[in-house]
Amino acid sequence: MSEIQFIVNKELCIGANACGGICARICPPDIIEYIDEDGKKVPCISEIELCMKDHGCQNNCPVKAITVLPPQEGGRNF
Ligand code: SF4
Repeated sequence: MSEIQFIVNKELCIGANACGGICARICPPDIIEYIDEDGKKVPCISEIELCMKDHGCQNNCPVKAITVLPPQEGGRNF
């Protein structure tokens, strides 16, 4: 089984207050939490082993700040 990586580009992320926390709201197992970094709430994963690999966070982030590896079959190519 390959290891799942949840990668956030903190420069691109506009923060949960600005985007409405889409990545956490769309996550089926609800494992995305936000950490305040200089007033910007950026996502992090609490229990990566519960990740369902649906790539919803990656595909729905308005600024494409999230990359989930390994890539989704037939999905966006990073
Ligand atoms: S990663 Fe994207 S969806 Fe998640 S808080 Fe940042 S801007 Fe919003």
